[in-house]
Amino acid sequence: MASHVALLFAPINTLDVLKRAGLLGTSAQIAVLDYLQQAEHGHFGAEEIHRRIAKNGERMNLSTTYRVLNQLVRAGFVANVPLGKHHSLYELNTGMAHDHLVCVLCGRVEEFSDVTINRRRAAIAKEFGLRVVGKTLALRGVCADCAARAHPAGPRVR
Ligand SMILES: [Zn+2]
Ligand SMILES: [Zn+2]
Repeated sequence: MASHVALLFAPINTLDVLKRAGLLGTSAQIAVLDYLQQAEHGHFGAEEIHRRIAKNGERMNLSTTYRVLNQLVRAGFVANVPLGKHHSLYELNTGMAHDHLVCVLCGRVEEFSDVTINRRRAAIAKEFGLRVVGKTLALRGVCADCAARAHPAGPRVR
């Protein structure tokens, strides 16, 4: 029946979406993308993604999780928030340009979007002929709550 066919090939079918992007659609790729899709607006480290997926019964090791995340970033499904040399956060790429404020003490992540930064970023990338794939910027610092906890007497002077 026509309605069943439509259901089978619904656009939310993760395997279909991955294959259309030229990926194999392995069970690991599906598990990672599905996880980030249902956890929309979340930012997660690879270890955390790996742990949560393992809890759901998907068997894959941490290096596979890293590999799959890189594949999904390259294909444009996932955005990478680089936090220094050996650490990144990952989130679903919703296509909305935004950047991040990350607290180095409590790990809190806030999103912001600034028209001027977005425009300059696009202009700079164009100037260098760079096709941007990992497109987020992370400002790292100490959030207001953590600063207040460290200095309960008052706001920081510096
Ligand atoms: Zn904090
Ligand atoms: Zn974000």
